[in-house]
Amino acid sequence: MINITFPDGAVRQYAEGTTAMDIAKSISEGLARKVIVAGVNGQTWDASRPINEDAAVKLYTWNDAEGKNTFWHSSAHLMAEAVEGMFPGVKFWVGPPVENGFYYDMDLGDKKLSEEDLGAIEKKMNELAKKNSLYVRKEIPKADAVKYFSEKGDEYKLDLLQNLNDGEITFYTQGNFTDLCRGPHIPSTSLIKAIKLTNIAGAYWKGDEKNKQLTRLYGVTFPSQKELDEYLALLEEAKKRDHRKLGKELGIYTMDDDVGPGLIMWMPNGTVIIEELEKLAKETENEAGYKRVVTPHIAKESMYITSGHLPYYADSMYPPMEMEGEKYYLKSMNCPHHHKIYAAEPKSYRDLPYRVAEYGTVYRYEQSGELFGLMRVRCLHMNDAHIYCTKEQFEEEFRSVNEMYLKYFKIFGIDKYVMRLSLHSADKLGKKYVNEPQLWIETEQMVREVLINSKIPFVEVQDEAAFYGPKIDVQIWSVIGREFTLATNQVDFSQGRSFKLEYTTADNQTETPLIIHRAPLGTHERFIGFLLEHYAGKLPVWLAPVQVKVLPISDKFLDYAKSVAGKLKKSDIRAEVDDRNEKIGKKIRDTELMRVPYMLVVGEKEMNENKVAVRRQGKGDLGVRGVEEFVGEIKIEIEERRAE
Ligand SMILES: [Zn+2]
Ligand SMILES: [Zn+2]
Repeated sequence: MINITFPDGAVRQYAEGTTAMDIAKSISEGLARKVIVAGVNGQTWDASRPINEDAAVKLYTWNDAEGKNTFWHSSAHLMAEAVEGMFPGVKFWVGPPVENGFYYDMDLGDKKLSEEDLGAIEKKMNELAKKNSLYVRKEIPKADAVKYFSEKGDEYKLDLLQNLNDGEITFYTQGNFTDLCRGPHIPSTSLIKAIKLTNIAGAYWKGDEKNKQLTRLYGVTFPSQKELDEYLALLEEAKKRDHRKLGKELGIYTMDDDVGPGLIMWMPNGTVIIEELEKLAKETENEAGYKRVVTPHIAKESMYITSGHLPYYADSMYPPMEMEGEKYYLKSMNCPHHHKIYAAEPKSYRDLPYRVAEYGTVYRYEQSGELFGLMRVRCLHMNDAHIYCTKEQFEEEFRSVNEMYLKYFKIFGIDKYVMRLSLHSADKLGKKYVNEPQLWIETEQMVREVLINSKIPFVEVQDEAAFYGPKIDVQIWSVIGREFTLATNQVDFSQGRSFKLEYTTADNQTETPLIIHRAPLGTHERFIGFLLEHYAGKLPVWLAPVQVKVLPISDKFLDYAKSVAGKLKKSDIRAEVDDRNEKIGKKIRDTELMRVPYMLVVGEKEMNENKVAVRRQGKGDLGVRGVEEFVGEIKIEIEERRAE
């Protein structure tokens, strides 16, 4: 018998050679139907693979990332089986899961896949899935594996085999298809109930343009048709809300070839949003005791050597420029500059916590192929701040940072979020992580306690911490359920030492402060991209570039319209007059297209009574009221930063 430990700590005995599927069945048939893959002693493991020793076991379903990845990767095998059946002689490179689905890179010789082929491959995949073929794992000696793929004439798999040794080579077979793969896979093809091939692209072998271009075929699969339908509807909705489309239509941002890829220029409408976000951040940070600073965009090489950015982070930085015999770098993070501000004046325990904030501009080198609208750019404006504190102050400081996140989530109507707590891994101390075993354990426990005490939903992930401390990645979901990584929150017990930051304690000792790096609103680029999707471009009044458009019914009322707009502007409301010689119906339609929250229609009656007819975006006619009355109402809506 072997001892199986469950995630809740319970231990049960099973016969040696039991499988995760057997374990699931011993709990309930319903669970067994849902199990896709297992975690065995921290390793993902086929649900059908025997377990021969005491083990900690987790069962993963479709709702877990491990489940989805295994499901999609197994679907790539199914797709390969279908393609091989239809195009004999095809050769395969790799077929990993991706964020939404999977792909397989293949060499189809001279054959170019068409849309019709995709339909036929889907159909074939559906037929094969119904056959209920098991994914069978087989350990195989290297010589036999080489023989198999030599006979098949697949030089790509032979290339993969070069780096593998006897004892670590496995084949997986389902139906008529055998692949070199380390696994794991789903138990059987019949779990795959709905299939959609989504895209055909070219991809150079090993990402090198000197190599042959392979065909990359993308697809996505689901355990039910309903889930596929929902996914396709979401894609449709996301297309309408695409921040690149809205960003152009609403005059938010632009890019230009002469400026360079990934370099965003914020147009007047986008700049209004930026200024409102910064105003919110400043108010919030002032209240929380932060002080603001401003730092240059460049610094000498020596500073980035101290910070460890060089050489470790050099690939993500712009190449240096030389001046007066020194190398200067564009900053990729604001921290080192802030550390220098901390160090500029001696500090005692009375000065802590010391909190400095800056909407800092940073430059990061992203490969041109990785650039994407506002989401992946080369120049970013970050809602940055650093808190320098004592160990005793840490919990309180960290808790307030989390509360700041929650406050923002409420303002922006972000109902779904999760914090991913990334921890170190003990066997990588001194390599991937600063070699301070005790400090790691202490800080990780401090962070965990704050999250538990604040009742914030979080998950823990091993071996993904930053070099200098545990970090929290904040993930948020837009109203249509798309996930965004907003920001990273980091605890740092190492940079303080590298920069020799100090404070004097009450009994006159010298200590190094802990540092919290935080950026709740992330970067303007990513956050505004998120907001455009989240609100489908219909920003709340306080964020809207134009808050009110005054629409005269005809030219006769133009002067009155201008006087109304003048009164609004005097009250700091962003108002414009539509002075075009157009019919009122067209003026209303155009204003709605620009997602302006309020329209004030003025004609004879309104002019004579000093009133306006109010229309609200998405709500229609709200009736006639006095100009002062309207100003009073909208001012409150703006001040309270109401979502609607
Ligand atoms: Zn595989
Ligand atoms: Zn930082």
